[in-house]
Amino acid sequence: MEKNDIMDENSQWVFPLGEAMVLTNQFNAARQEHRDRLGRTLVKRLEERGFHALYIQTKEEALSEVLKLIPEGASVGVPGSVTIREIGAMEKLAERGCSVIHHWNPSLSPEERMNTLRDELLADYFLTSSNAITLDGLLVNIDGNGNRVSGMAWGKNTLIFVIGLNKVTNSLDEAIARTRNQATPPNALRLHLQTPCASTGRCSDCNSPDRACKALLVLERATGGRTTHVILVGEDLGF
Ligand code: SF4
Repeated sequence: MEKNDIMDENSQWVFPLGEAMVLTNQFNAARQEHRDRLGRTLVKRLEERGFHALYIQTKEEALSEVLKLIPEGASVGVPGSVTIREIGAMEKLAERGCSVIHHWNPSLSPEERMNTLRDELLADYFLTSSNAITLDGLLVNIDGNGNRVSGMAWGKNTLIFVIGLNKVTNSLDEAIARTRNQATPPNALRLHLQTPCASTGRCSDCNSPDRACKALLVLERATGGRTTHVILVGEDLGF
């Protein structure tokens, strides 16, 4: 056995290392090309629906695009969004003197939390993600409190979505299924909710007091009176 060979779990020869690396590079290139083509296709569908859409490959580029859209000193409402936190937007916006308003601070009293939920909606920019996006450009979101879908439906401000391509689905039915079977269970675990999906990993359309799926919003077009940006990212982001 040559020392550069790749061995399987039974110590059987599989590929010379050089050959395996060439194949891996080819697989990664094909994966990237698929994401790029999908991203460009979705941009067209979103623009047909009145959104200002952009596709970029990485979360670092996503952060850079967000910072181009939001001027220094602006107020930015960020509802419950894992994606926005994963791209590092909260820290960078605060560093640039923006007032970042969000309700995830555990030290907030119930009244302070309610006021913060309201203030997120009133900020100059509402920065969030979507639970799913269909191949024809529908943005599909599910919500427990309703604050996040409220800010998406209407606002006297600018709306910005950052969405990883892991959230693309073929149809509206698949998008709704995604919100319940992929987005909500990890969120329920994160928030320590007592829901069936937190236990089993799958939705059972529960009637739990902790149910996280109480409001469903499908954005078919950019809504009136404001600009809506959609930044699509060729990486897995959020739940
Ligand atoms: S309806 Fe209930 S079980 Fe289904 S995803 Fe929502 S919280 Fe989980």
